[in-house]
Amino acid sequence: MAKGYEANKQHQQEIAQFGKELGRRAHFTCEWCGAKAGLAPVATIPTAEPEVENLLLLCAPCRALHVGGDADPNRLRHLEGALWSSEPVVARSAAALLRRLGADWAEETIEEAGIDL
Ligand SMILES: [Zn+2]
Repeated sequence: MAKGYEANKQHQQEIAQFGKELGRRAHFTCEWCGAKAGLAPVATIPTAEPEVENLLLLCAPCRALHVGGDADPNRLRHLEGALWSSEPVVARSAAALLRRLGADWAEETIEEAGIDL
């Protein structure tokens, strides 16, 4: 138990070290919604070694969605821009979220943007 806790803590610290680099990539805004407050890096593949290619910089409400939170997909239209992100990890993760929440309005954009889920 304690070992798992330590490993997780170390993993979180490794992820946190990418904060600056992600901040530069994201221009210090949430990579899903563009918010500027409460940003923190999150891992899109929790089991993978943290790399800038599999991390996101997200605000608190987006982090809640990222860890499985529920939301009315029609209230998430401000996430549409993320589907057009030039960062594959941003576009793919936003598309996966919107599909999980059943956002029908996003399907066309996901297809147009050529996001492979
Ligand atoms: Zn956000």
